[in-house]
Amino acid sequence: MSGRLAGEAGNRASLEAALEKVTVGSVEITALLDAPFLQNPKVIAPEHSEEMAEEFRDTLDERGLAMGAVTCYLVQSGGQLILVDTGIGPRKRPGFPSGRLDEALREAGVRPDEIDAVVHTHLHIDHVGWNTFEAAEGRSELFFPNATFVIQQAEWDYWMTPEMLAEPRNVALRECVEPLRHSGRLRFTTGEDSFGERLVFISAPGHTPGHVAVGIADGSERAIIVGDASHHPVHVTHPDWVTPLDWDPAMAGSSRDRLFNLAADEHRLVLAGHWRHPGWGYIVRLNGKRTFRAL
Ligand SMILES: [Zn+2]
Repeated sequence: MSGRLAGEAGNRASLEAALEKVTVGSVEITALLDAPFLQNPKVIAPEHSEEMAEEFRDTLDERGLAMGAVTCYLVQSGGQLILVDTGIGPRKRPGFPSGRLDEALREAGVRPDEIDAVVHTHLHIDHVGWNTFEAAEGRSELFFPNATFVIQQAEWDYWMTPEMLAEPRNVALRECVEPLRHSGRLRFTTGEDSFGERLVFISAPGHTPGHVAVGIADGSERAIIVGDASHHPVHVTHPDWVTPLDWDPAMAGSSRDRLFNLAADEHRLVLAGHWRHPGWGYIVRLNGKRTFRAL
């Protein structure tokens, strides 16, 4: 990809930091914070937690914890409002903070009924939470009543079996994904399908079987929303520092290695919803090593 080497003039997304917005060509992306949360190196990279603590000392607090986030990205493209992932949601979830995506949307001046599409990178509990809310008599109703919900077929097929739905720990699937089944608002996609004129899914399995990244391109500008291919920028330099959070850690490692090479080669803005909010920046190569540079 020699035509799009890092540092090429005119291929840098512009930034409106105060509004937590970036633009990629004509596409506007807003980072919406559902919840901040703290990450423990012993969970992110259990076999390398001491090296991580040393290498990323400046980013850890006095307890040795890193600031992470559950950030959802609102993508405005060609008159369409597309929300990538829907956070933890309004319900109490053990071990998770409460989601406040509803407030973040309000601050951004967007009503839930204006969202045209919800795109899921995968179907974990902290990515589907605001799909529904508990209405009268305990019924789950769609929080985004006019949205089409776009889900990878492989991801749906893995999670939405009777056995998986019956598992007590999969309550979020029952409350936030199952109600989509007969809603008439589901759209399945596979592999590297495009979505609209400027978005494309990029297969990145490993965290879950059907996990995808979302590529954005307009003119010479490019971005990539990596989903949970990475939980911390440590993975940019060390993609093989695996976490038990991943369904197949080795596969997740090779997927993120491929995504980060793509981002570095094409000078793509990287957006990572679990990195410190807003989770965006560029990947540069220094002395043969990839490094993340936050915007
Ligand atoms: Zn996640």
